[in-house]
Formats: sequence, C-alpha cells, structure tokens
Amino acid sequence: MSPRPAKAFEPLSGGCLCRAVRFVLSAPPDYISNCHCSMCRRQSGSACLPFATVPRAALRWMRGRPRWYRSSAKARRGFCGRCGSTLAYDLPGGRGPQIDLAVGAFDRAERLAPQWHVYYPDKLAWVAADRLPRHVRGSRSPLMR
Ligand SMILES: [Zn+2]
Ligand SMILES: [Zn+2]
Repeated sequence: MSPRPAKAFEPLSGGCLCRAVRFVLSAPPDYISNCHCSMCRRQSGSACLPFATVPRAALRWMRGRPRWYRSSAKARRGFCGRCGSTLAYDLPGGRGPQIDLAVGAFDRAERLAPQWHVYYPDKLAWVAADRLPRHVRGSRSPLMR
C-alpha cells in the first residue's frame, strides 16, 4: 500500500506552531488517512484530521517532545505543551511499529495527500466529498459503497 517513490526518499521535517517541538521522518509514510471522527475533530479543532501513519523507527524527535493526553483506553494524543499544536496519535505507552503524525504539522504537508478517508460516516455534511475510498471506521474496516 505504501507509495513507491522513484528516487530515494527525502526526509520530511515538521513540528508545532511555536517550534518548541520538531521532528524528522526518514522513511515514507506507510499510508495517509483523513479522519472524520469526533475525537480527531475536537483534538485538532478542525473539521477532520489528516494523519500519516509512519514507521516508528523512522521518526526522530529533534527538539522537544510532545506532551500526551490519554484520550481513550486504546490511544494517546500528542500535542505541544507550549502552543497546543496537534502532533501525533499513538498507542498508550508508545508501543507498536507505527505512530501517526498530523499531516498539518509537516513543513511540506502538500506532499502528504490522504489515500482514503476513515470514520467517513462521521463526516460533517459541509465538508466537500471527493473520490477517495471511504472506510466505515479505521483503515482496516470495510469500505463504504
Ligand atoms: Zn509548540
Ligand atoms: Zn479520528
């Protein structure tokens, strides 16, 4: 599912609004989703939250670290403790081979177009529809017709 770049991957940098937290990603995202769930909506303060699911081993926090909010039994959400920017979504305790990074936190976010929607039934009606695949829940859930 991951995109196959024709040339070597150029690392992608990013961070929060106040620049207290900075990161570099040294491998391509595994996939990129646009989430419409109400929790992402609240955390980001936006209509939906595009996020890149990336190999944890390819992510380096270069300056600062996110603060974490345990948003459910299954997840924690990372943000800048100084400016509040939305940065990450992760399993509690930072386990697992992947971590999600907010697309809007990347310096060159235009390079990170979502491949599909997740939690599409929760989409706000005034968010424009497009032709990307639409998952009922997360990216492993069934597609909507
Ligand atoms: Zn900040
Ligand atoms: Zn979500």
